[in-house]
Amino acid sequence: MAAMLAVAMTFGRGEPGAAQTALDERQQHVATIVTGEIEKLTGPAGRNCGIYTLSGVDGPSPVGRRELREALRCVLAAQRRGQAAWAIWQVPHVDAILFDGVGASAVSAVHTVAGRGSNADVELAPCLDPRVGRDLTIECANRRPPTPRDVEKARRALRRDLERTSGFVWADVAPEAPPAGTSGDPSEALTATVTAAQRHVHAAGEPQWPRCPHHFDHPLTYRDGWWFCERDAAFIAAVGRLSTVIPRVKRRR
Ligand SMILES: [Zn+2]
Repeated sequence: MAAMLAVAMTFGRGEPGAAQTALDERQQHVATIVTGEIEKLTGPAGRNCGIYTLSGVDGPSPVGRRELREALRCVLAAQRRGQAAWAIWQVPHVDAILFDGVGASAVSAVHTVAGRGSNADVELAPCLDPRVGRDLTIECANRRPPTPRDVEKARRALRRDLERTSGFVWADVAPEAPPAGTSGDPSEALTATVTAAQRHVHAAGEPQWPRCPHHFDHPLTYRDGWWFCERDAAFIAAVGRLSTVIPRVKRRR
């Protein structure tokens, strides 16, 4: 399915009608693998918002700001209609064939797609409030380094998740100060706070909290401000929004 889409929808800058070259074939092969990886997150996407390919191994960028804005708008519009969608583009000036892109299912955050190495490996990461940056990258509000204020906000969000879905009371679980062993680094402090709260709930008799709503047999872990399913490598819910995906419980006392 993805293979046919990739072949049918490629609109590179090659000469129209030119014979298919080895490079074209390699691009299509890699694009197919990459879109397969994206569809592990999005599910089968009814909407392909573009596959932009280079016309040579080291050709000019196949996308400009206009194309990136269109691709992003297309993904966001599909998401509003309840459809999955993605777009990918080749990264110029690299030896290997690398693709970057954006994708979203009907319910997930928009994810950025970043090519990693020559095996068509890609890394997907949630992107809040995506915008096209000056240097042809997708900028995300959640990629700014966290400030102490963000840490405070995240602690309140974690408290909400904990009290709504585990039944434990924040004061019993979370230390006021960041747990010992953390430097002043805010993102490290956040990870340590979440891990400490989770460890406490597990030790107190809920070893699966927060239980993965897709598999039911393992807890979600914390990653970059989100609850993450390790098995699917999927971001499930932003911290603070856990009760939208798993049932609320009453307080224990
Ligand atoms: Zn899971």
